[in-house]
Amino acid sequence: DEESGGGEEYLFKIVIIGDSAVGKSNLLSRYARNEFNMHSKATIGVEFQTQVLEIDGKEVKAQIWDTAGQERFRAVTSAYYRGAVGALVVYDISRRSTFDSITRWLEELNTHSDTTVARMLVGNKCDLDNIRAVSIEEGTSLAEAEGLFFMETSALDSTNVKKAFEIVIREIYSNVS
Ligand code: GDP
Ligand code: MG
Repeated sequence: DEESGGGEEYLFKIVIIGDSAVGKSNLLSRYARNEFNMHSKATIGVEFQTQVLEIDGKEVKAQIWDTAGQERFRAVTSAYYRGAVGALVVYDISRRSTFDSITRWLEELNTHSDTTVARMLVGNKCDLDNIRAVSIEEGTSLAEAEGLFFMETSALDSTNVKKAFEIVIREIYSNVS
């Protein structure tokens, strides 16, 4: 594609999954708009946000999808996963049950994907260290066992948010380029 005059362009679909209220929507709004909402309700309307990066002098568009709150009903549809080449699989470090759900989310992701998906395990809300219910070591070993990248983030104070998305985007790029 020569439209930009810069040669190839890339479009990557990335999905964010994990239990309700782990901070998926806020991770996306922090990354895409540098916004955080303390009282965010289930996402209404917007299906995805697009971020444009330059890697190796090439334009890379990351189309990052957020659920509309369907995860509360365990009803994330196959349309949501279709074509995804990257995923952030998110739990809340202050709620054990959200970490216990990760295996199920990984299974669901596997079921719905027919290509290699760059996957990052994300322990969000690391600002809540004082009420932590999942240790960093537990996150690290699950990630190692499942072959995932791992990072603890905070959408509230911005810790590692950009890093988490960009590691996934760069991994996808290296898978396809
Ligand atoms: P989603 O259901 O996974 O999309 O979660 P939301 O993004 O809607 O966040 C659920 C709640 O957790 C909201 O009250 C957010 O303000 C809060 N939240 C999200 N990320 C963080 C974080 O990193 N730290 C803290 N302390 N709260 C967060
Ligand atoms: Mg949400």
